[in-house]
Amino acid sequence: MKFKIHRGTKEIGGSCVEVWTKSTRILLDFGMPLVEKDGKEFDFRKYKTTKTNELVSKGVLPDIHGLYNNSSNLIDGVIISHPHQDHYGLANFINNDVQYYLGEATHKIIELNNLFTPQEIHLKNTNYFEKEKTFKIGDISVAPYWADHSAFDAYSLLIETNGKSLFYSGDFRSHGRKAKVFYWFTHNAPQNVDYLLLEGTTISRDNKPFKTEPEIESELTNLLKRQGKINLIYTSGQNIDRITSIYKACKRTGKIFIVDVYVAKVLKELSKYAGIPYPSDDFENLKVMFPYFTSRRLKNEGNEKVLYQFKKYKITKEEISKQSDKIVMIVSFCTEIPKRSNCSGLCMRGSSRKPCKMGIVRYNTFL
Ligand SMILES: [Zn+2]
Repeated sequence: MKFKIHRGTKEIGGSCVEVWTKSTRILLDFGMPLVEKDGKEFDFRKYKTTKTNELVSKGVLPDIHGLYNNSSNLIDGVIISHPHQDHYGLANFINNDVQYYLGEATHKIIELNNLFTPQEIHLKNTNYFEKEKTFKIGDISVAPYWADHSAFDAYSLLIETNGKSLFYSGDFRSHGRKAKVFYWFTHNAPQNVDYLLLEGTTISRDNKPFKTEPEIESELTNLLKRQGKINLIYTSGQNIDRITSIYKACKRTGKIFIVDVYVAKVLKELSKYAGIPYPSDDFENLKVMFPYFTSRRLKNEGNEKVLYQFKKYKITKEEISKQSDKIVMIVSFCTEIPKRSNCSGLCMRGSSRKPCKMGIVRYNTFL
């Protein structure tokens, strides 16, 4: 077994590791970098018209034989550990004939991103794996382990071939709603691994403990009890653990929990894989708002059926304004904040509270 870390050391994101034997070559993730070489935010729009070979020569794309269009001797497989763009975001450059290996929910999330964002990553050849079910690509065997992470469907990977083994942790944590998965792993981790590639995003951070999701849920519950005005919470629409914490806090305080149509669709699709709240008769206090620009875009692109799907659970801006003291609303990238929302003027960034004119209650989205 040989391997090369093409990107992802000394930076957050852009993960990409090539593993090969004499007869098989695979890739673990193909992520978009979060920052440029000069430290500025990575903006892929400026490379949109640049040819693949130029991007390779500029170092924007890693030089990997058999991965891009017009490649001979194609790579045997690309494994996507979880649906965060810094782990799959450059996949639109990969040759259409390449085989992908990923969780089914991961694929679903990538497709939802195509529906609601400018992203256009259509994976043609997909093979779904499941936790602890080993599969083979050529003479390389891969065992996926479920991981606790802010991405819904995250895995660590044990790669084995010819008596050698490599463990790729992918992104993981131990304070989410799947913390048990992490503690299970500490007792069941593969032994005598030859190479360990470990995520280290928080290694250089302060040594303070992170709040667990149940702790955040009870902190939010106390906060919502005290608030008599609208609460806007800024979080990723795909951070299902956090959205579940907010929903539970709303339930405990008699608040109405509002998501936009994008978050509604994410919850609905992912409810097939886990018992999570989603717009339905089972979750009475969960309502859906339809932001104008997102709704218009869905309609213009022939996807108005997504809008009709949640019609029964619709709440209008007028209804929100009338009962703003009961409202808790997720603010995602497509939310339009109602005028005169009479905000609470309270902002939470991680563990520190600061006054905020926007009234956004913010919890860090990536942890
Ligand atoms: Zn991640």
